[in-house]
Amino acid sequence: MYTRADILQLAKKQAIEYLRMTFTDLTGTLKNVEIPIELLDEALNNHIKIDGSSITGFTAIENSDMYLHPDLDSWTVYPWLTPAGKTAALICDVYNNDGTPFAGDPRGVLKHLVAQLADLGDGQLQVGAEMEYFLFKADENGKPTKILNDSGSYFDAFPSDACESCRRDTVNTLAKMGFHIEANHHEVAPGQCEIDFRYDDAVLTADRVQLLKLTTRTIAEKHGLCATFMPKPMTGVNGSGMHLNMSLFKDGQNLFDDPKASNGLSSTATAYLAGVLAHAQGFTALTNPTINSFKRLVAGYEAPTYVAWAMANRTALVRVPDGRGAATRLELRSGDTSANPYLAMAAVLAAGLAGLQHQLTPPANIEADIFKMTPVQRKAQHITELPRSLAQALVNLQNDPVLVAGLDGIVPKFVAYKQRELTDYQISVTDWENKTYFNV
Ligand code: GLN
Ligand code: MG
Ligand code: MG
Ligand code: MG
Repeated sequence: MYTRADILQLAKKQAIEYLRMTFTDLTGTLKNVEIPIELLDEALNNHIKIDGSSITGFTAIENSDMYLHPDLDSWTVYPWLTPAGKTAALICDVYNNDGTPFAGDPRGVLKHLVAQLADLGDGQLQVGAEMEYFLFKADENGKPTKILNDSGSYFDAFPSDACESCRRDTVNTLAKMGFHIEANHHEVAPGQCEIDFRYDDAVLTADRVQLLKLTTRTIAEKHGLCATFMPKPMTGVNGSGMHLNMSLFKDGQNLFDDPKASNGLSSTATAYLAGVLAHAQGFTALTNPTINSFKRLVAGYEAPTYVAWAMANRTALVRVPDGRGAATRLELRSGDTSANPYLAMAAVLAAGLAGLQHQLTPPANIEADIFKMTPVQRKAQHITELPRSLAQALVNLQNDPVLVAGLDGIVPKFVAYKQRELTDYQISVTDWENKTYFNV
């Protein structure tokens, strides 16, 4: 817990010359403004102003002055900008010019839901995010080519894993910024990597997802590579997921754990799980927010396509991995790395909260391979299919009153923005069409 005096002292002691004030827009893009450290006082007085009208999903042009309120605990030195102008960053909450928090700030939306959970007496949402991404070779201008960095696969070692030095450099940099890295490895697809860091409060994990993406891209560039968090950059191989491992902690106790239950899950865990399953149709637009997201959510690539839960079965949407006690958690496997982490976690939390408030009961767990079932078998076990497209996911989101109400007015703005993206795609002619229809 840093105080204002701590920050002033840190800036001096660490010889900081520049400060980046960062925040996230509606679509999940990290934004920042840099100020010289001489203006640190002004920044700490919440006086740094931005023009909200030029930020996706922020204010209208008539009322565009917004203020950045830095979160002092987020103080981080960016190692890659050192020593050429030593730079620290502060993650900010976005405020209106009348001093009220801006309702469209994704970080604020998540904070609001976290507070509702605390009010209900159900502790703090803890989230661990597994981050997958691809490394492509860069051309002489530093732009991405279509050449993957290697042809390795799951858990490969050198030389099949040609990503290891870049990945090591990335995790070393993240560790310097305070990340507790738990694992990093080559993923299933060629050129694909994964980095896992220790779970923490939802807002902190969302902050770190943003920082990890920035760091990964920055370090890749230094290795002559381009990192992408696009969910499905290559046809015919796995895409990149952002599995979310969730639990609720109160007074150091994991509320999802119940050693007396036959499956080790408490009634809090099952009610939360039931809420997640009940609103999965609706929140998919936020956990999988791009047209490309739905090219990952197809059978055969370790990504879920059906709404069901399981213990060991990785074809289910939610899995309860091995490990009880403090490690008891629900792993949501649908989310991908194009999601705005604040909004994805907020939407899933709104779903879990609804489960807790109404004490919902989940259907039975499904341990058989869902892809091998017939439609009749799936129907008999109440297994529904996740939306197949962004268009369908947006309809589902709008039709989910719990999510619409829970997300502070974000849904209409988000849907309107994404509908423009769909129109843009609709009128674009793709390589696939030229190949398939040229000789019609
Ligand atoms: N890449 C897979 C996905 O799309 C996950 C594979 C794995 O983690 N084993 O979710
Ligand atoms: Mg993993
Ligand atoms: Mg993985
Ligand atoms: Mg996983």
